[in-house]
Amino acid sequence: MKKIIIAIDGHASCGKSTLAKDLAKKLEYRYIDTGAMYRAVTLFAIENNIIKNNDIDEKLLLKLLDKINIDFRYNEKLGKSDTFLNNKNVENKIRGMEVSDLVSPISTIGFVRKKLVALQQQMGDNKAIVMDGRDIGTVVFPEAELKIFLTASAKVRAKRRFDELTAKGETVNFEDILNNVQTRDKIDSGRKIAPLRQAEDAILIDNSNIGIKEQFEKVLKLVMS
Ligand code: C5P
Repeated sequence: MKKIIIAIDGHASCGKSTLAKDLAKKLEYRYIDTGAMYRAVTLFAIENNIIKNNDIDEKLLLKLLDKINIDFRYNEKLGKSDTFLNNKNVENKIRGMEVSDLVSPISTIGFVRKKLVALQQQMGDNKAIVMDGRDIGTVVFPEAELKIFLTASAKVRAKRRFDELTAKGETVNFEDILNNVQTRDKIDSGRKIAPLRQAEDAILIDNSNIGIKEQFEKVLKLVMS
């Protein structure tokens, strides 16, 4: 079968990465979580005092931009890729609330997007890739052969994220998570550069009331058609 690019975009915590990972495994494609890349830049900014009291020192971030190296390395034990920032495994750190609260403001910055989009486009050079994010079908790969736009109600999404973090042993508050999901959606959809929106040729799936397996089968059918 011809190798293609599958672009999955959608709102925060709507199961994009679960779907993308399952598809990549089944099709023996590469999976790229672009949200992890924006999260890694955010962690870098936190650790280098680029963000103080929620204020981003954009000049300093631009100055240090070349010092940010992000890559994904396969973790045999877990059967999935981990995110590395400057050769350090940051997979767990980037999923916490501190990064989640600051990632959307960081993602509005043009030079950050320019750097990450260029990296993402390089990764898709040989096709056979599933990439998830906010602007994959609109900006990164407007020519992708299959585009999916996922959504679900904010409450359903917050509950899923709450369960995920609690299972990892994090102490979290449901209202904080709901607030984070809604705030991120608002910033992501409202920003000037590459806002979150459904590409004209993307297929919309609202998974508020459908399970992971059903959704997977539905998308797999689309890939095969
Ligand atoms: O996918 P995830 O929820 O981990 O993404 C975290 C944040 O990164 C999003 O809320 C958004 O601000 C940003 N992002 C983006 N463009 C992408 C992927 C993520 O702006 N392609």
